[in-house]
Amino acid sequence: MTTDTGDCEVIVIGGGPAGLFCALQAAGTAGTNPRVVVLEKNAACGRKLLVTGAGQCNLTHGGDIRAFFSHYGDHGAFLRPALLGFTNRDLIAFFESRGLSMVADAGEKVFPATRKASDVLALLLRECRERGVEVRCDEVVLSIEGSDGGFLVATGTARYTAPHVVIATGGASYPATGSSGDGYRLAAGLGQPVTAIRPALAAVAVEDYPFSHLAGISFDGVNVSLFREGRKVREGSGDLLLTHAGLSGPVVLHLSRSIEAGDVLKVSFVPGLSRETLQRDLVETMAAHGTRQVKTILADFCLPERFVKELLHQIGIPRDLTCAHLSKTARNGLIAHLTAFSFGVKAVGGFREAMVTAGGVALADVNPKTMASRRIPGLSFIGEVLDIDGDTGGYNLQAAFSTAYAAARAIVDGRGG
Ligand SMILES: Cc1cc2nc3c(=O)[nH]c(=O)nc-3n(C[C@H](O)[C@H](O)[C@H](O)COP(=O)(O)OP(=O)(O)OC[C@H]3O[C@@H](n4cnc5c(N)ncnc54)[C@H](O)[C@@H]3O)c2cc1C
Repeated sequence: MTTDTGDCEVIVIGGGPAGLFCALQAAGTAGTNPRVVVLEKNAACGRKLLVTGAGQCNLTHGGDIRAFFSHYGDHGAFLRPALLGFTNRDLIAFFESRGLSMVADAGEKVFPATRKASDVLALLLRECRERGVEVRCDEVVLSIEGSDGGFLVATGTARYTAPHVVIATGGASYPATGSSGDGYRLAAGLGQPVTAIRPALAAVAVEDYPFSHLAGISFDGVNVSLFREGRKVREGSGDLLLTHAGLSGPVVLHLSRSIEAGDVLKVSFVPGLSRETLQRDLVETMAAHGTRQVKTILADFCLPERFVKELLHQIGIPRDLTCAHLSKTARNGLIAHLTAFSFGVKAVGGFREAMVTAGGVALADVNPKTMASRRIPGLSFIGEVLDIDGDTGGYNLQAAFSTAYAAARAIVDGRGG
């Protein structure tokens, strides 16, 4: 049996960071609140938020907010107004003014000082409670229909009506946390265009991968070039991690939004050194130190010892070979492996392991200042359900909070949504 729950002012679908923050901003201050309801399909809100930053929650990034625009692939321009309207400093101030201090690590990633994502969630839920937001869990939204100038939202057990509906259902990655792509179906059902979705911030599985036994070894600041049909299409630099099945780490995660099966990743393990420079350096060093072992010369390039051993093994260079005995062919093989090691891409990690979703509600049909649909008055989209995916480093949560703020302000000010 379904229950009619009476009229609401705003229905937010999804109790993740975007949904909760939008709801509490739309609710205003206690005493004068419009009726704002959050419908969350899980038994509790924020399950994905709890796993962010390995449970520590990398909430945002330090520095000037303008530096954020380049961290969302080709879609940073859409986020400009939202990020400028609610910046990383605003986000930090929101939490700090309510008693949760923030700290930045050496790479300017910002975390709660307690290093607990659960503290971020608890604060959002407390603020919702204090502002009178009705958070209703175990409510899976099954359909949204237009009704009398507003919307009728149906869950398995109840029907809600409101002039404003905000879809904050997240993407399709880590479906066990609740974000299993429902928002795309709900949006498309209302006639809102949705672009094809694919996993992003995902590790890459490599064809005939030679480094399974080196899983866990990482490299600082390497260069990675992405080749498709022999042509370089993208490149990036950053830390790289060898996994059991292939490559991960920020540089690969960031490129993953562009990587397809069949592509080739060429990795330079000696960043900043071209093939020619490395060749010159090695020739000079080896000539000057003929009695030193090749592996000790390579250690000078800050390469992990186990990786060097494996590389020598692959090229057929004996472990204890001295520089004087290294043939030109072997030296050239070594240089090629170090400056452009080729990894054939077998697959990019699926939605189960990807941190975010690329694609989603098409940006061309959403107002970037208000997050309101350009097609359906009263409907807004925030957070990861939008066709936005950021780099690692706090950029995705900042986008969730900034878009949530923009939508809430627009609803409160009567500018849209
Ligand atoms: C392992 C991991 C680590 C991450 N770490 C970071 C990090 O450190 N920093 C960072 O910036 N980003 C990080 N991210 C990305 C970040 O978690 C997301 O971008 C962010 O959670 C998106 O917020 P959201 O509110 O849009 O969606 P979500 O957090 O996915 O919330 C959506 C909510 O909607 C609910 N929902 C879905 N469908 C329905 C329905 N039909 N009815 C009712 N409710 C529904 C879901 O249950 C869910 O609670 C990480 C992601 C993963 C997977």
